[in-house]
Amino acid sequence: MAKLVLEKVEKRYEGFHAIKGVDLAIDDREFVVFVGPSGCGKTTLLRMIAGLEEITGGDFSIDGVRANDIPPDKRGLAMVFQTYALYPHMTVAENMGFALKMAKVPKAEIVAKVSQAAAMLQLDKVLDRRPKALSGGQRQRVAIGRAIVRNPKGFLFDEPLSNLDAALRVQMRTELVKLNKELQTTMIYVTHDQIEAMTMADRIVVLNGGIVEQVGSPLELYNNPANLFVAGFIGSPKMNLLDGEIVARDDHGAQVALADAGVVTIAADGIEAGPGTRVTVGMRPEHTMLAESGPIGGVADFVEHLGNETLVYVKRPNGGMMIVKADELAGIRMGDPVTMAPRTDRASLFGPDGRALI
Ligand code: ATP
Repeated sequence: MAKLVLEKVEKRYEGFHAIKGVDLAIDDREFVVFVGPSGCGKTTLLRMIAGLEEITGGDFSIDGVRANDIPPDKRGLAMVFQTYALYPHMTVAENMGFALKMAKVPKAEIVAKVSQAAAMLQLDKVLDRRPKALSGGQRQRVAIGRAIVRNPKGFLFDEPLSNLDAALRVQMRTELVKLNKELQTTMIYVTHDQIEAMTMADRIVVLNGGIVEQVGSPLELYNNPANLFVAGFIGSPKMNLLDGEIVARDDHGAQVALADAGVVTIAADGIEAGPGTRVTVGMRPEHTMLAESGPIGGVADFVEHLGNETLVYVKRPNGGMMIVKADELAGIRMGDPVTMAPRTDRASLFGPDGRALI
């Protein structure tokens, strides 16, 4: 069990307010990812949960017990760092068993726990090697193995894959998610990479400037971003955002006159903002349709053929860029004039304060 609850949690460094009242409940066995731009407070928040950084305001509890003042080694949470911090003179087995040896666990029990974790992490063939004779991915697994043998209630990962090459990162992502299911323990994972967040998380926590912008499943965040920040941060290529003004509205949608373009229809029930409201229309590249006579015009500035999809970068008359996921067969070439329209049932709409209106 490891249910972690943060209530109005704050971190004030001398002269800097890094975490500004975070409320968050993480369920037992959940895989939660903290994501956000550099400096948003992800690592600080994780280190506060680990006990490596003092909580200067609010309450933090583990399984219902207030944990603000519990020392790190008594919290039952294991932290895995970006730099693996393995002991170079010890073998893989010794590295993995070191904490247990220090805790005077009987030798036979250490051997059993190490070999069980090694099998899980496919390290059984390299237990006698020293770290310098391992690949980056194997070193990272040893660091994880060292945490597993301690049988923690939860794992805290701080950008653990950032030192690995792209292919290995993708492989390790899958392995960590599988590990979460196998071990049935809570995991919190920090990354600045929204693709990592999207592919691994049960729930994503988007942080920005020390506050939580949105918490939700990857698809909730992708399909219903709560505000312009989340809309711009989640999704690659990015959501197209166009400014405009509501000119008509009824129970089933709104008509928005875009700046530098025509009028688009947004189909959604219950839009409360009325005519005259300044809005931003959001369209994912795959929901931006190329049409014979769409309300949004531009010129294909660059066409990227990725094999499984084609991205068309469209330069607008006002100098702005939009990205459209197009069918290769549409045969768009650089310099072609194009017109576009949002898929009306998939567009997003944000009000003057940046919050979602639908
Ligand atoms: P990154 O992705 O770059 O690691 P992050 O989101 O993990 O960023 P943190 O390391 O949590 O960001 O830092 C959050 C903010 O707190 C930053 O603006 C940082 O400069 C500030 N900060 C961190 N440690 C201290 C400190 N000891 N004293 C003052 N400010 C600090």
